[in-house]
Amino acid sequence: MDDRGNMLTDTFGRRHDYLRISLTERCNMRCFYCMPEEGIPLRPKEEFMRQEELLSIAGTFVSMGVRKIRLTGGEPLIRRDAAEIIEGLSRLPVELAITTNGVLVDRFIDVFQRARIQSVNVSLDSLDAEKMHRITRRDHFEQVMANIRLLMREGFDVKVNVVLIRGTNDDEIGDFVQWTAEEGVRVRFIEFMPFDGNRWDWSKGISLQEVLDTVGTRFGANNIERLTDGPHDTAKHYRIKGHKGDFAVISTVTNPFCDSCNRLRLTADGRMKNCLFSGTETDLLSAYRQGEDITDLIRDTVLHKKKARGGMDTLDEFSKPENHARNRTMQAIGG
Ligand code: SAM
Ligand code: SF4
Repeated sequence: MDDRGNMLTDTFGRRHDYLRISLTERCNMRCFYCMPEEGIPLRPKEEFMRQEELLSIAGTFVSMGVRKIRLTGGEPLIRRDAAEIIEGLSRLPVELAITTNGVLVDRFIDVFQRARIQSVNVSLDSLDAEKMHRITRRDHFEQVMANIRLLMREGFDVKVNVVLIRGTNDDEIGDFVQWTAEEGVRVRFIEFMPFDGNRWDWSKGISLQEVLDTVGTRFGANNIERLTDGPHDTAKHYRIKGHKGDFAVISTVTNPFCDSCNRLRLTADGRMKNCLFSGTETDLLSAYRQGEDITDLIRDTVLHKKKARGGMDTLDEFSKPENHARNRTMQAIGG
């Protein structure tokens, strides 16, 4: 471990080299589990990081040991200067990746290629256009599907994120896995997570075990192969024997992966979060604007990281809405 790595090591010995940056809180979709139908209140532009501020703050994280940056949001690609930000970040010595709802991806293929982005995660919660419309409150299914295919043709590593919600899309688990039979697509089922105001209730969630049981019933339990996960992977990976693609489950609720967490987050308004579920944030942007050295603030925020899920170690604590009241909504954090 070099000195720079040590700067982002927390009190539990976890070394942080992965930063997720939200480019905007805003979005061109309104997924019911993430965003209110009316959108979020407009805030003055000055409250958000300008391009040069974002690049400079990201550069500080990189100088402290960050090796991978994933852009997210809201929808990162609706930001007007998204292409310039991607180009700017690509000049840093980091692996760059992006999570998007896929609607605008076709306009960014060249930008992604020039920035050497390999990993593109696209959210798609249903294989049915009408259902997708109900979930996202927008009519972009064909466009998103076309863009997933375009990314695969162009050789990107495409992962399709599916948030599973009982009574909404849990009947499609088998169909998503069937998609991996003939195409090298990588489906990642995400357990529904609680955030401030999203009316979460775990009875609507589908656990890792339930996904495996459902897949086993359709494809045969003996045909499910467990694949090896990467050292900091948040997903547990599987493949049906003979399928080209694979599937995975991100089990934040039933099997949290906090022990190996290497992630930090920067919100679009320049706040640092040491965990997706942390109730506290550090205002890096104001400090940066006052000319302060933000290195100590970043280091201190890392040192205050809790052992698991922002301090909610048990499912019981994690399930209490009041424990999420000090957190933001998902689109305001950057998922
Ligand atoms: N707009 C982009 C997108 O949809 O991919 C990036 C931001 S979005 C907040 C990032 C990811 O978080 C998406 O895959 C989305 O489905 C997921 N997400 C949002 N709210 C969630 C929740 N309550 N539980 C689990 N995943 C959620
Ligand atoms: Fe927008 Fe992504 Fe949230 Fe859906 S999940 S509303 S696409 S930020």
